[in-house]
Amino acid sequence: MKIKTKSGKIRFDAITIFPKIFDSYLKESLFKRALANKLIEFKVWNLRDFTQDKHHKVDDRPFGGGPGMVLKIEPIYRAVSFLSEKRKAKSEKLKIRVILFSTRGKKLDVKMARRLLSYDQLILICGRYEGVDERVVRYVVDEEISIGDYVLSGGELPALVLVETVARLIPGFLGKYESLEDVKGFYPVYTRPGDFKPEGKIKFLSAPKILLSGDHKKIKAWRDKFNN
Ligand code: SAH
Repeated sequence: MKIKTKSGKIRFDAITIFPKIFDSYLKESLFKRALANKLIEFKVWNLRDFTQDKHHKVDDRPFGGGPGMVLKIEPIYRAVSFLSEKRKAKSEKLKIRVILFSTRGKKLDVKMARRLLSYDQLILICGRYEGVDERVVRYVVDEEISIGDYVLSGGELPALVLVETVARLIPGFLGKYESLEDVKGFYPVYTRPGDFKPEGKIKFLSAPKILLSGDHKKIKAWRDKFNN
C-alpha cells in the first residue's frame, strides 16, 4: 500500500480535553511497537492549552438554552490552525484531513480507513458533552465520522478506533502477527486444552478432532467451509 509522506509515515493528532485517556492504550502492544519504530506518529493535544482566557475555558452553555455544555470554537480553531500550519510550513504538498467525531457522521469502515491512509496527517477532534459549536463543523472540519449508531460520552474512543483501523492497514504494523490477524474471524479458532471439563459437569467441551489430527489438507478443507 502506498503511503504518501516522504518519511513513509502517517501522522495522527488528537485534540481532546482528556488527553490521559490515550496513554495506556498507546503504551501497549502493537501501538507501542509502531510508535517506537516510528511507523506511525501519534500526538495527543490538550484542548485547554489552546485557550487564551485566564480560566482555560473550553466549553460554555448552549445559546437558546437546553441541557449540557458545548465545546467552544476558539480553542478548537486555534489548535487545528497550529497543527496544520506547522506541518504545512515544512511541505506545501502535505495532504491534511481534519476529522470531527460525531454521531451524525459517516460510519467508519475499512474502505473509509483505506481512503484516510492516503493522507499525510489526520487531525482528530474529540467532542464531549453536547458536542461542538456547529461553526467547527462548517468552517474547520473536512468530514464528520461516526463509529456506530450509539452515543458515547466522548470522541476519544472513536479516535482510538479510527487510528487502529487505519494503522492496521500499514505494512509492518501487525508485524509477525500479520497473517494470523488477517484471517482471524473467518473461521473458528481453538487452543489448548483439546478437551475441557467444566468443574462439576460430566460432559467435556471438546475442540473439533480434525484440528488435532495433524492432517493439514483436512484442516484447510474444514476451515475453507467458513470462507465465503
Ligand atoms: N447529543 C450529542 C451527544 C454528543 S456525545 C449527539 O447526539 O451528537 C459527545 C461526543 O462524543 C460527540 O461530540 C462525539 O465527538 C463523540 N461521540 C459519541 N458517540 C459517538 C459515535 N458513535 N461516533 C463518533 N463519535 C461519537
